[in-house]
Amino acid sequence: MSPATNTRSELTQESRDYVVNQLFQIVLNQSEASRIEKLIYDVCDQLSKEESCNIKNKYVSYGYQKIGEIISYPTKIKEIINDLEKYIFDWESSIFEDYRQKEHSDINKQIVGITVKVGVFVCQKKECSSKKCFYSQVQSRSNDEGFTTNVICTECGTRFTFN
Ligand SMILES: [Zn+2]
Repeated sequence: MSPATNTRSELTQESRDYVVNQLFQIVLNQSEASRIEKLIYDVCDQLSKEESCNIKNKYVSYGYQKIGEIISYPTKIKEIINDLEKYIFDWESSIFEDYRQKEHSDINKQIVGITVKVGVFVCQKKECSSKKCFYSQVQSRSNDEGFTTNVICTECGTRFTFN
């Protein structure tokens, strides 16, 4: 087995099924959930080749990020899928459109940074306590507001926000 094949094989079917199941709970359509997962996989496959990194790591972080985005912004699911199809990422993606507009329109409350990470927070629902939480942070440039952190659990969907 070549090294490249080894790297590929580290992403298990279980991980991919997990993402499909998460997506299914949102779109309630098995073939649509599989289609979205395939788009996520293809993007991760391409990114891991471009960055010469392990597809498993890319998939776990990017896959959870996309689930988090879709759970957080269910009304934007079409735009999120469109971004995946067109290979549009991060700050340029539709998720951040509101923030981009705000940045242009409100000088005193400019958003200076947003980060999306997995594994930092534990779900606040006691029966769940999952570490598979997605979070985004928005930092306002004005001193009185500071950070707002939005967390969502990818296991049970519980959301919590703190400043
Ligand atoms: Zn949870």
